[in-house]
Amino acid sequence: MHLARFPRKFVAHLPTPLERLDRLSAHLGGPEIWIKRDDCTGLSTGGNKTRKLEFLMAEAEEAGADTVMTQGATQSNHARQTAAFAARMGMACHILLEDRTGSNDPEYKFNGNVLLDRLHGATFETRGPGLDMNAELEAAAERLRSEGRKVYAIPGGGSNPTGALGYVNAAFEMLGQFNDAGLRIDHIVTATGSAGTQAGLVTGLKATNAGIPLLGYGVRAPKEKQEANVFALAEKTAGIIGAAGVVSRSDVVADCDHVGEGYGIPTEGCLEAIRLFAEFEGLLLDPVYSAKGAAGMIHDIRNGRWRDGRIVFLHTGGAAGLFGYRGALEG
Ligand SMILES: *Cc1c(COP(=O)(O)O)cnc(C)c1O
Repeated sequence: MHLARFPRKFVAHLPTPLERLDRLSAHLGGPEIWIKRDDCTGLSTGGNKTRKLEFLMAEAEEAGADTVMTQGATQSNHARQTAAFAARMGMACHILLEDRTGSNDPEYKFNGNVLLDRLHGATFETRGPGLDMNAELEAAAERLRSEGRKVYAIPGGGSNPTGALGYVNAAFEMLGQFNDAGLRIDHIVTATGSAGTQAGLVTGLKATNAGIPLLGYGVRAPKEKQEANVFALAEKTAGIIGAAGVVSRSDVVADCDHVGEGYGIPTEGCLEAIRLFAEFEGLLLDPVYSAKGAAGMIHDIRNGRWRDGRIVFLHTGGAAGLFGYRGALEG
């Protein structure tokens, strides 16, 4: 698997650390929990999108783009990392932000990731909920093209086969860390949203015959839809790395029982996970993704799953979003 064949901009701080969570593991009384720190990728407070953008932004540069566009929810971590990456490459960045939660809280609408988008010089437009945002993105890109801009449009979450390469590479990186440290891992768990992270990881794990199962905790779609999205993207990703057919439908597992009322709306479990990680480990989760993933993991541990085993929680970042949720966190 020769990923160096694909164009890439080396921006992320890699490899990200792999650390053992002694106090949280002891508190929960279950398996040994390790954390893969993709919140430490180094670009504008870090997060998982930086790995995808290394491949996507290289493609944008090869295409001769002067402007990158993408779309996401108001507090999108992907939008923030895209804005920062574009700034670093001297490209303009234009973002469509979808109001998925209906929140009128000024902290949600203007603080956190939105503040950082602005600081990185991005421009944006907003959209109401329920539209086909990738279609909106294409329409807006066409508008800018008709004005003479050379636009490279990145889908929501950076989740296409090119972006997923970042997580194929992350699977290789983790496997190397496990092997170097002599760690036998029973399961990797992570939050899953636009699917690129889980799709890239499962492709990398299967292509290397790692024998480590992966579980995604959903943050938006129901299980069937989430798994179908991840599988479709994994199949395409396996195709571009020359490993077509390596991922089976049964390798793709999502648990979508911890979404709560909907995307971006905190649940009790997610608020508890934020407090537990903060108070036992000094770590910051985010209310939209990583804390919903952690809430699912904590729920499963309390139900006896992985007892006496060793699991890895992939921390996908997102702490900048905390500042958009002050009300929920203080309530
Ligand atoms: C985007 C994001 C995810 C989900 O990753 P996908 O590749 O979209 O499934 C998880 N955590 C954080 C913090 C994110 O920003």
